[in-house]
Amino acid sequence: MTRPLLELVGVRAGYGPVEVLHGVDLTLYGGEVLALMGPNGAGKTTLLKVCSGQLPATAGEVRIAGNAVTGADPAALARLGLCTIPEGRGIFPNLTVRENLWLATASGCTLAHIEAVAYERFPVLGSRRGQLAGTLSGGEQQMLALSRALATDPAILLLDELSMGLAPRVVGEMYEVVAALAQSGVTVLVAEQFARAVLPIADRAALVQQGRVVDVRPASEVETDLSASYQLTTEG
Ligand code: ATP
Repeated sequence: MTRPLLELVGVRAGYGPVEVLHGVDLTLYGGEVLALMGPNGAGKTTLLKVCSGQLPATAGEVRIAGNAVTGADPAALARLGLCTIPEGRGIFPNLTVRENLWLATASGCTLAHIEAVAYERFPVLGSRRGQLAGTLSGGEQQMLALSRALATDPAILLLDELSMGLAPRVVGEMYEVVAALAQSGVTVLVAEQFARAVLPIADRAALVQQGRVVDVRPASEVETDLSASYQLTTEG
């Protein structure tokens, strides 16, 4: 691990009058994969939304590379190298694969470059380039979402429930891609309930419970201690 790349210090946030995050402290170090774990409703998605600028923090600070970015909008954060793949993948079902990739040209890359990178990593997308994204399998949709994210050449990738709706084999394939991205230098924060899929590729795991990060430890320790406080989904 190197320097802190993304930091949350005393972050509070919620929806209207309901506070969901009650003072979250979390540090993501450059080059690591940090798995955000915890039960339904614990606040993992809310935490990612604050990091990505989709939800304002009502207190506390978010920092990227030591600089406060609290309140910055998603576009500004994207320019700082932060990229999000939301729960549900954020693809447009009524656009084709190619049209979905075209949306990533907003990052400044040409469509030709984005397609070349996407189809090299996921050849199946190349053969489906004219197909509506909504008709792709869950795994193919996740490949498309990852391809779009990669086009922005992110320094930090935020992933929410990569495994959602995917067969266990496909989940494994997706996390292999995430592991390869991490190897190439992308720092990853991933919210995931499917422990068996994410822990093998994670460096550390943080447990979120009732709006707080209550434990952070090496992922390898969680694997051997799954039955204790983490209480995660291991089947699938
Ligand atoms: P899951 O794995 O089920 O997505 P999570 O840990 O990601 O769980 P969040 O989605 O962050 O949890 O939800 C935390 C709490 O905030 C829950 O009680 C949820 O009902 C509430 N919540 C989430 N989104 C909203 C919203 N848009 N408006 C009001 N309450 C919300």
